[in-house]
Formats: sequence, C-alpha cells, structure tokens
Amino acid sequence: MASLEAVCRAMVPAVRAAGAALDRDPATVAGLARLPAADLLRCVATPPAYRGGCRPPDGLVLSGTSCLEWTVALEGIAYGDPAVALACPGPSLPGAAVTGLGDEDQREWFFSRLTGAQWTFFAMTEPAKGSAMTELGTRLENGRLYGEKCHVMNGARASAGVVFCRRAPGPWGIEAVLVDGAGPHAEQEHTLGLRGTGLSRIRFDGVAIPPDRVLGRHLPPLRRGFAGALRALQRCRPPVAGIALGVAEAACDYVREHRPALPSSAGLAELTGRIAAVRRLVHEAAAALDRGKGNPRRISAGKARACSLADEATRRAAELLGPASLAEYPWLERMRRDMRGFEFLEGAGDIHRLSVFQGLLTGEFLPTP
Ligand SMILES: Cc1cc2nc3c(=O)[nH]c(=O)nc-3n(C[C@H](O)[C@H](O)[C@H](O)COP(=O)(O)OP(=O)(O)OC[C@H]3O[C@@H](n4cnc5c(N)ncnc54)[C@H](O)[C@@H]3O)c2cc1C
Repeated sequence: MASLEAVCRAMVPAVRAAGAALDRDPATVAGLARLPAADLLRCVATPPAYRGGCRPPDGLVLSGTSCLEWTVALEGIAYGDPAVALACPGPSLPGAAVTGLGDEDQREWFFSRLTGAQWTFFAMTEPAKGSAMTELGTRLENGRLYGEKCHVMNGARASAGVVFCRRAPGPWGIEAVLVDGAGPHAEQEHTLGLRGTGLSRIRFDGVAIPPDRVLGRHLPPLRRGFAGALRALQRCRPPVAGIALGVAEAACDYVREHRPALPSSAGLAELTGRIAAVRRLVHEAAAALDRGKGNPRRISAGKARACSLADEATRRAAELLGPASLAEYPWLERMRRDMRGFEFLEGAGDIHRLSVFQGLLTGEFLPTP
C-alpha cells in the first residue's frame, strides 16, 4: 500500500491550496473536479468496469471495492485537507452502499451518472430524529418517497443519491432507494467547519421510486433492510477514521515544521505513536471488512479513537504554537473547526464507545483468531 500513500502525499500541496480556497468560498467546490486527488478518490471507490475514462494516477492498481484502499486514500488526501477529501465529486460514501447492496443494473445506473464533476449523497439523518436507523420517518409509500433529511453532504448539488427510508414498520421494513439527485426541495445548511462539504436539508415530496431503484432488490428483506443498511454504514466508518487520522498526523507535522526545535517533552513523538497504533486498528478493521469478516465493535473503536486523536492533536498543536496560534496559523484554525464534524459524521463518539463497551462485555471485541 506504500505507493498509494506516496501518490497521495505528492498531492498534498494542491489539496491544501484547494482546501483553503474552499473554506474562504465554498463555491470553488466546482473546481475540485480538476484535482488529480478527485480522480484518485473516484477510482478508489469505483469498480474498474464502471470507471469510464477515469484512470488511477501513476499506474496504481485499485480494486475500486476495497475499504482498506479507500481508507488509505482518504487519510492521504485529508492530510492535505479533510473538506476536500469529503467534497470532491464522485461516488464517495453512497458508492460504498451501491457497491455493497446493489445488483448489476443498479451499479450501472449509479456509476454511469458519474462521468465528470457529479456529486452523490447518502441521506440517513432526519430533523428531530437524527441518524437512529430504527426511528426513520421517511416513507416509501406506493412507489413514492415522502420525508425530510438533514446534514446530507453534497446533497443540494448531487446528481444521484441513496436515501434510507421505511416501507413498513420494524427493522425489516427499512429500505435504501436510489434517487436522481435531491430534487427541487433542497437547500444548503450553514456550517462553521467543513464548509465545502455543502451539508444540505432535503425534502422528498412524493418522488417516484420505480421498483428497480430499491437497492438490493435481489436480496431477501433480511439481508437488505436494517442489516444491509448497517453493513453499508460500517464500510464508511474506517474511511472516516482515516480522514481523522490524516488530520491528526498533519497537525503533528505542522508543529514540527513551525517549531523545529521543540523538546521531546512536548510529547509529539508519543502522540505520533498513538496515531500509528490507531491506524493499525483502523486498517485491520478495514481489511477484515474486505474479507467479509467485519467486526462492528472494532470498527467503532477505530472510528471513535481516530476522531479523539484529531481533536487532541489539533488542540495540542494550538497549545504548542502559542497563545495566539489560531489567529497566526489559519490552517490550524480551520482544522480546529473542521475536526468537530468527524465526531458526528458516521455516528457520534458516544454511540461508538457504547458499542465497544458492549463488545467487551460480550467478548465480541477481541478479534477472532
Ligand atoms: C460533517 C458532517 C457530515 C454529515 N454527513 C451526513 C450525510 O452525508 N448523510 C447523513 O445522513 N448524515 C450526515 N451527517 C449527520 C450525522 O451522521 C449525524 O449527525 C450523526 O450520526 C449523529 O447523529 P444524531 O444527529 O442523531 O445525534 P444524536 O444521536 O442525537 O446524538 C446527539 C448526542 O447525544 C449523544 N447520544 C445519543 N444517544 C446516546 C446514548 N444512547 N447514550 C449516550 N449518548 C448518546 C451522542 O453521542 C451525541 O453526542 C453528517 C454530520 C456531520 C457533522
């Protein structure tokens, strides 16, 4: 995997410049499609059969379905800028749901829409309900979709999306459906951090959903519904952890660059060691998912620990760079704003910590030999 890391590292200067511009003016998001990083992220999340003219840079061989490759790539791009990693056009998180749950026609339908600067969205969270899947209020009734979603990344600008909804009461009544963009009732929300990701509120007012747009229609309800949605969400968590680790590592290197003479008592080496340990946990969780043996407890541990480290590393950087550091170092100020989002993206930290705790009680946390 070293070459994927090296390719990402070479992209950092361009990604960092794009990230600063995106924070100043989120309308510059349209220009992200021209970045080599956007091509890389598209290829890493698209199976080769659906890539069209898009080729991985520098002759990299990417499966397009590997959670580990996606995690490594997102960490590398997020080292440059996390908002760019999340705001680039392409299949992104919904692509993982389509690859994991969709049949061949559905994959074709989804990926054929993404030939250039097209965004996608993944809509789970609802106003007043949050992202608790069992409380979903969005309904699929007589082939039409009704309901409201919020905090949906890239929602208002997307050409295709995956929407979680309810066809019937109970966990097996949950479905994920494919939609042609957000439709007319989408508006962007105001956020302090990750400004370029265009979090959106979307209302579905009877949008027609033909039967072939019910994701995983070839699977029995027991394997799509709640279980299928959970599987799709779990594949997104190591990549989000990767983004948090990229920011944590970048914060440590940023301090080294601006304070090269810091004594070892500053604790940067110790922090970098802990980042490496969590990276191992996250990579192991992603590789297990690739083998079809994902352990939800360890996925949660990696996601929660990576997000705590992004918080700790950016806070430590601000302390080490001095009392006015957030005013003096705009990159660091932006990272302090952006990293707050990781805590909530793909499940709040408390929920993941509860999952780890339950895994420890039941013996599911330790990897099976
Ligand atoms: C940058 C960003 C991007 C996002 N992108 C998307 C997207 O593309 N699509 C999408 O659908 N959603 C998206 N979201 C929404 C996100 O997934 C949810 O906000 C997140 O899952 C948290 O869920 P919630 O809002 O329901 O919080 P809640 O579950 O209401 O949690 C609120 C607080 O209460 C705590 N809490 C809740 N229940 C318990 C409990 N039982 N025990 C202890 N503590 C508890 C939580 O830890 C948290 O601190 C995004 C959010 C952010 C910040």
